[in-house]
Amino acid sequence: MKKALTYLLLFVLVISLSACNLAETTSGSESQGYVGIAMPTKSAERWVADGNNMVKLFEEKGFKTDLQYAEDVVENQIAQIENMITKGVDVIVIASVDGNTLTDVISKAHDQGIRVIAYDRLIRNTEHLSYYATFDNFQVGVLQGSYIEEKLGLKEGEGPFNIELFGGSPDDNNAYFFFDGAMSILQPYIDSGQLVIRSNQNSMSQIATLRWDGAEAQKRMDNLISAHYSNERIDAILAPADSISLGIISSLKGVGYGSSNNPMPVITGQDAELSSIKSIVRGEQTQTIFKDTRQLAKRTVAMVESVLSGTEAEVNDTESYDNGKIVVPSYLLEPVSVDATNLEEVVIDSGYYTKEEVG
Ligand code: BGC
Repeated sequence: MKKALTYLLLFVLVISLSACNLAETTSGSESQGYVGIAMPTKSAERWVADGNNMVKLFEEKGFKTDLQYAEDVVENQIAQIENMITKGVDVIVIASVDGNTLTDVISKAHDQGIRVIAYDRLIRNTEHLSYYATFDNFQVGVLQGSYIEEKLGLKEGEGPFNIELFGGSPDDNNAYFFFDGAMSILQPYIDSGQLVIRSNQNSMSQIATLRWDGAEAQKRMDNLISAHYSNERIDAILAPADSISLGIISSLKGVGYGSSNNPMPVITGQDAELSSIKSIVRGEQTQTIFKDTRQLAKRTVAMVESVLSGTEAEVNDTESYDNGKIVVPSYLLEPVSVDATNLEEVVIDSGYYTKEEVG
């Protein structure tokens, strides 16, 4: 009897142990992989949306994720990536704070067999990048430049108009693509005198805005106004991103722009951040560029699935993004120009924002 009981206990033990094992293997095989997501900062709405979209999609597909924000500090981002390597992630998706600073940490990842995908911003000086998922950055600039061209009637020969140019962060490869795209449209009008830059500041080294900081843009706009526009109106401002546009608008409001007899200049932007969408509704910012971060997240998830299954991811550009070591196979999504006329259709009807959020 005693013996029978011992056998029964042993039997129960064996069964429960193997059930345990089974549970472990099942959950192990359910996890499609472990993905580190290194984002630059929470201070711009877009990166918060990017991070959330990716975590949601990866988790729906059975991946485990580790999402980190570096608050725009290079050393934070490097430490976060090192930590992901230690935790044993399979792939790291990086939107860099400074695309020139990650060569060593990416080499470390590579040595551990970890694959790296550049997200939105190109990472320079490394051969260990599998893919680059982004928007057509040159086209973003073209859309901004073309908007100014259209709003001022430059094609129709209107002018001369005063314009000032703002650039993005000089350590972000995208900033040069945005600027070059915009200047591909605007330069002929500057050459012909239809557009006049009173400050003469027309190169990236003069117009860049470190870390896309709105406060810095506001300061530069204040200086431009006091040095060159006490007796002149500003008709247009090329602003590369919403954070910068809002800084410029504060400065302009401070000197009386934005009333019926002194309307705001044409001011571009980028990212369709909620605060800028509201500013467009109020008639302050004129335009922004919508980049659907949901689509970018989808593309990135597909790239991660490809690298982990050993298949080739779909790309549509194998020429534009030379990072100094390799030309990174890229997928470029289409940016969309948004102003008061199509705002509802583009950002509300697509479900990006609700009507209530926009107000
Ligand atoms: C992104 C833009 C963004 C900017 C500032 C760029 O790299 O492409 O969408 O506005 O960074 O965050």
